[in-house]
Amino acid sequence: MNERNLIGYGPQPPDPRWPGNARIAIQFVLNIEEGAESSVLNGDAYSEAYLHELLGRPVREKRDFSVESMYEYGSRTGVWRILQLFNDRGLPLTAFAVGQALERNPEIGAALVAGKHEIAGHGYRWLDYSNIPENIERRHIQLTLEIIERICGKRPVGWYTGRCSTHTHRLLSEIDGILYSSDAYNDDLPYWVNGSSPSLIIPYTLVNNDARYLLPNGFRCGDEFYQSLKDAFDLLWQEGEQYPKMMSIGLHGRISGHPARAMALMRFLDYIQDYDSVWICRREEIAGHWIAKHPPVIRT
Ligand SMILES: [Zn+2]
Repeated sequence: MNERNLIGYGPQPPDPRWPGNARIAIQFVLNIEEGAESSVLNGDAYSEAYLHELLGRPVREKRDFSVESMYEYGSRTGVWRILQLFNDRGLPLTAFAVGQALERNPEIGAALVAGKHEIAGHGYRWLDYSNIPENIERRHIQLTLEIIERICGKRPVGWYTGRCSTHTHRLLSEIDGILYSSDAYNDDLPYWVNGSSPSLIIPYTLVNNDARYLLPNGFRCGDEFYQSLKDAFDLLWQEGEQYPKMMSIGLHGRISGHPARAMALMRFLDYIQDYDSVWICRREEIAGHWIAKHPPVIRT
């Protein structure tokens, strides 16, 4: 995928024909990353700089116990609170699971399976793959697929690196069984990319994403996250009468798993559950639907 496509579907996107004639497909992602972040304990040069509670804190060339501990909140506590919210309501998630994070807390994998959630791959380490050699990235993708299969009993069909490299899309297209990848932010609907074989992209979001609590000019409190999600839902619901779309929402145990933020998430779940014609689903279901109803047009 080397060429950019700035045109996409344009003003008249296709009717996705979601199951049950839903006006909107809603897809919650739970990122499982904690323990795989940058750390000298992991052999990295620096402590983690990104997506923790102390924005702007300089990295250290030694352990940063405060940052490590903030990450640990996610895998020890936050993930369980978020899972409870979804399990109580019988709502599905797609986990973007980092291989090393799952290895260090396999109980999370078992709980995801028990809750009938999807587990997609999210790299072996939670770091920027743009600086990592191609052969290591290839090995990390394979390793992550193997770890998830071992812990969760099923090989992932979906993938999201996050900070991907120039090789990521091609490396994924070489792997059998990957139905979709989500390393894109450029649409409200899935789409096909033509390569040696067509690959399905299910775009993700850094807008409807709790990461913005920890980014400059982001959400200051749960009300702001809730209002942003509600506005996105309300607009897509209106548009959905004519042009149904999908809405992705990104969550993290160490972020939305904190009580005040979990309340905001709970309010949003309660809000959307009052609507009919909403398809709350896993990403693999969107992939299956798109492959069946909107197969790629092969250009010859
Ligand atoms: Zn992530």
